[in-house]
Amino acid sequence: MKDAYNPKFLKYIELFAQIGDNRRLFPKKCRTCGKVYENFPDYLHNTSPLAHGLEEFTNSLNIQHTMQYRQCSCGSTLAILFTKEDYPLLDSFWEMIGKESKETRRPVREVVGEFREQCNRYILENRDKKSQDS
Ligand SMILES: [Zn+2]
Repeated sequence: MKDAYNPKFLKYIELFAQIGDNRRLFPKKCRTCGKVYENFPDYLHNTSPLAHGLEEFTNSLNIQHTMQYRQCSCGSTLAILFTKEDYPLLDSFWEMIGKESKETRRPVREVVGEFREQCNRYILENRDKKSQDS
């Protein structure tokens, strides 16, 4: 079913979709070719996915981050860094991913991939609707 969203993902997807309004993250400029991505939908639409698309890590200050990697049309890797400030459900998101991975006996990477696919689709589907609202 191509149009179905995993109900467990939905609230996280909706919140991700709002990240595009975050002034700290967008517009995003590619340091290599100078291309500017105005917002999240623009970024998702005009870049290509990479295998290691979404990763969690904790820096030396013990602040939890999540990176999203995409490839610019020039071939450079672009990374967007989320913290809990940008995305308040970050802890709960990774918890949900871990649970889903256990329950469905799939590797975390695969669950993240599924989430990403649904999330990107949701954001692109809602892009037109949103631009009419504003
Ligand atoms: Zn570029």
